[in-house]
Amino acid sequence: PGPQLPFDKEKKTVVVLGSGWGATSLLKHLDTEDYNVVVISPKNYFLFTPLLPSVAVGTLSTRSILQPTRYITRHKTRTVSVIEAEAKSVDPVAKTVTFTDNSEIQGEVSTTTLPYDYLVYAVGAEVQTFGIPGVREHACFMKELADAERMQRQFMDCLESAAFPGQSQQELDRLLHMVVVGGGPTGVELSGELHDFLEDDLKSWYPELAGKVRITLVEALPSVLPMFSKQLIDYTESTFKESKIEILTKTMVKEVKPKSVVLQNPDKSIVEVPCGMVVWAAGNTGRQVTKDLIAQLPSAQTNRRGIAVDEHMRMDGTDGSIFAIGDCTATSYAPTAQVASQQGAYLARIFKQMAKKEALVARKAELSASANQVTGEEEKKAVVSELASVEKQLTKLSKLRPFQYSHQGSLAYIGSEKAIADLPFMNGNVATGGVATFLFWRSAYLSTLFSLRNRVLVANDWMKVKIFGRDVSRDA
Ligand code: FAD
Ligand code: NAD
Repeated sequence: PGPQLPFDKEKKTVVVLGSGWGATSLLKHLDTEDYNVVVISPKNYFLFTPLLPSVAVGTLSTRSILQPTRYITRHKTRTVSVIEAEAKSVDPVAKTVTFTDNSEIQGEVSTTTLPYDYLVYAVGAEVQTFGIPGVREHACFMKELADAERMQRQFMDCLESAAFPGQSQQELDRLLHMVVVGGGPTGVELSGELHDFLEDDLKSWYPELAGKVRITLVEALPSVLPMFSKQLIDYTESTFKESKIEILTKTMVKEVKPKSVVLQNPDKSIVEVPCGMVVWAAGNTGRQVTKDLIAQLPSAQTNRRGIAVDEHMRMDGTDGSIFAIGDCTATSYAPTAQVASQQGAYLARIFKQMAKKEALVARKAELSASANQVTGEEEKKAVVSELASVEKQLTKLSKLRPFQYSHQGSLAYIGSEKAIADLPFMNGNVATGGVATFLFWRSAYLSTLFSLRNRVLVANDWMKVKIFGRDVSRDA
């Protein structure tokens, strides 16, 4: 009856939900000798999100920043099951997860339920729309691969429609106005990438239009990039000014219409601004499956931002069988790839420790039983001595080390071959921005890419764009 899951009755089963930063880091470090491991994710790949805005303007091709999850699991010593499906519900009491194959092609069975001993909940988050009218219908997002591909198509469509003969000046202005909502790192990086595309390529391919393209970045707060130091915020704002990217701070998007965006100005007045494309990068919220799980544990789970966990990433209100990591959690850490991947690696260590502990507990039981049976003096001595050693090791393992985040710095690309970086240095912080930081940004991300294959593909794309420019053909 179909492929068998890697069940060894002697081992406990770890079900991992997700194939993003947290889950992939866990899988990379997990010793699969100790557990039956099953991965469930609607995407059968890992997406390297920091380079997603580069895909949206064609600097990188989509395949370069993906890594199939099976590329990681196939190197494991024991088989890991990878199932392309979406977790629909988790029952923390029965310890089961129900999942569905939502893809275009399905077999006779497309929904099933699996029991787990341990669940690693790493489903990330989804785009926050705040219920603002028109966002889902008319804006592009910048979260998943499909979002970047959609944005690229829409951007090129705006240009081609503007190039259609006979457009009025007003319509040209509308079609060539790109609005990015959200001055967090996603919105800033995307605005920078759009500007590069314009400067490096569109000026050659659409000379009559490129000069008329406008990019506006709308941010509700008083400044963009609140997580960066003041000097880097100023640097970004002045670089954007030079790049002719308009920043509207203290301005809130109230509605997105098919051909315009409704803004609330700092003085609370409302204006409707015509535009060809809106990219929504206004932050994230919990997924429905996460909200449903939280709702099952109302007394322990009271944080509306996400899953509350203890210092070992165990979900509050459970018996320790559910671990939650990454963007789906509500912790004091920022929802970043850096945090999620460190939590994944930490969990792999915790699982190793738990497996060692269980093996020792079993050995202790065996020794205790045999202590009563052995008769010879020498044998008794050996058993007692091993029991003492097991006890000692158990005491050592009894304490799980809490998760400790080590911040490696914040980096963001701001366009025009410039990047900004806040880097921790000797109990302080070094803030740097410019072309050298851009080279650092590139090398940092190149080395963070999980595999050599992806590094080669990304480096190759960068070289290709340098030589031939970006592709302006529109994949309809
Ligand atoms: P994700 O990486 O989002 O993974 C979630 C996984 O769960 C996915 O595989 C998804 O398919 C799967 N999933 C979804 N629903 C279900 C379900 N129902 N059942 C099972 N699986 C499910 N952070 C940085 O630190 N540095 C950066 O430079 C940076 N750049 C970014 C750029 C962009 C454009 C974006 C969008 C984010 C960026 N981030 C960056 C943030 C970073 O991507 C997230 O913090 C990180 O992805 C969180 O990891 P995660 O494992 O919690 O979630
Ligand atoms: P974010 O939450 O950091 O920023 C969203 C911004 O949108 C906020 O500043 C918010 O004030 C604004 N906003 C919300 N509603 C609005 C509205 N109606 N009108 C105007 N503005 C509105 O989101 P993000 O940039 O997607 O980042 C998400 C997480 O991913 C963060 O933790 C971030 O640090 C991380 N990330 C990091 C990098 C990097 O390090 N280079 C890149 C991308 C994302």
